[in-house]
Amino acid sequence: MLDNIDDEILDDDMAEVEEIEDTDDNNDEYEKICYLCHRPESIAGKMIEMPQNMTVCTDCMQKTLDSMNSTNYDDLMKFSGMPGIHFMNLSDFGEMASAKKIKKKKKKPLPPIDLKAIPAPHQIKAMLDEYVIGQERAKKVISVAVYNHYKRVATNTMDSIEIQKSNMLMIGPTGSGKTYLVQTLARLLDVPLAITDATSLTEAGYIGDDIESVVSKLLAAADNDVEKAERGIIFIDEIDKIAKKKETRSRDVSGESVQQGLLRILEGSEVEVPVGANSKNAMVPLTTVNTRNILFICGGAFPDLGDIVKERLNKQASIGFSADLKDKYDNDPTILEKVTLEDLREFGMIPEFLGRLPVIYSLEELTEDMLVRILKEPKNAILKQYKKLLEIDEVDLEFEEGAYRAIAKKALEKKTGARGLRSIIEDFMLDIMYEIPKDSNIGKVTITEDFIEKKGGPIIEARGALIGQ
Ligand code: ADP
Repeated sequence: MLDNIDDEILDDDMAEVEEIEDTDDNNDEYEKICYLCHRPESIAGKMIEMPQNMTVCTDCMQKTLDSMNSTNYDDLMKFSGMPGIHFMNLSDFGEMASAKKIKKKKKKPLPPIDLKAIPAPHQIKAMLDEYVIGQERAKKVISVAVYNHYKRVATNTMDSIEIQKSNMLMIGPTGSGKTYLVQTLARLLDVPLAITDATSLTEAGYIGDDIESVVSKLLAAADNDVEKAERGIIFIDEIDKIAKKKETRSRDVSGESVQQGLLRILEGSEVEVPVGANSKNAMVPLTTVNTRNILFICGGAFPDLGDIVKERLNKQASIGFSADLKDKYDNDPTILEKVTLEDLREFGMIPEFLGRLPVIYSLEELTEDMLVRILKEPKNAILKQYKKLLEIDEVDLEFEEGAYRAIAKKALEKKTGARGLRSIIEDFMLDIMYEIPKDSNIGKVTITEDFIEKKGGPIIEARGALIGQ
């Protein structure tokens, strides 16, 4: 279709050419004619002079350049056997120009953190309380540390009296809410958060992510905004997995070396990271991120750390005047609260690494009561979410007290803390969510203990019955 139109235009032009030629027959002064499309200067516009007295109109010149750009020169080279000859790709100029434009675009700098806008520790804790159940001490420590951290960032008091960075080490069993606590914190403070796993890190040059990748993840979480990233939080999970190996016959590339590698970024340094990619290579641009104001939180379950603490305390208790029962600490549920740097060193963390994590605290193992509260209380509790979903269908979802207990008991058996709750709930809720919409008469569903324990079904009440009540 378009081709036809082009031909028509060309035919019209040619007609005009002939006309002009007819009228100019006797004229000595010839008009310049395009060597390619044969249109005269009066129609095609100013001609470009070429060697050998040739002239070409600007349209044809442009078309020629365009077709050169779209040619696959590699094939052409192979075909013509002209190695080492390169054509300039003119479209690159366009890209270069636009790349420059992007760079030139001045980004509005982020306003400095307003000291008054930083919530006080009790406010931070109150916000955390709405989502995180229990873990009172951990929430208190984290609130104070975060408050101090952002105060330090806001006032920039690095030079006069150096306020130490409040990087943290969080010790707690699986599913006790370590990740959840950090996620909630970052959301409430509205700062970017990157969560990484220490097990994937290795010393640069070995298979695995190099240490700087933790910073590039944060940059990605901050939509590649360096300034925003520099105020963010990095959570490194499973930090206990990079403990120094006990027997070190070979180079410890994923343990002690990673701890060594992390020192620099934990303390604060300029790190070159790729923009919009996870690894450095020649194709991605690099940018510099300063980690000085990034808050690092390291978390881990530290299995067996409890035994190390116990052993130390029992040893202390059994000597001297204050000799106590030898097994006094054997069944102490708060044993991890008594952890010291010495115990962590014994576990395999190097002193320099621990020195850069001045705030150390532990999370309690969740009890049945806490699990029941987790089911009921948080603002975004999973059962509340299901309730809301069924509310849209105008169905009331209720739980018997015994049902809550039964779910918590089942989760405790799994030994994965609150993580187990979700899978248990999803398991029985699937049937409910599948069956209820089938019958529009259903007005209320009550989940019973028997239903959770697979000994019976839920209590289902019809809409009419509800109205009658
Ligand atoms: P961890 O990182 O300690 O292994 P997570 O933070 O991933 O555990 O916890 C798993 C899930 O359990 C969270 O997504 C959250 O929904 C729930 N959870 C854990 N602890 C708590 C808590 N103290 N309060 C409320 N919910 C919790």
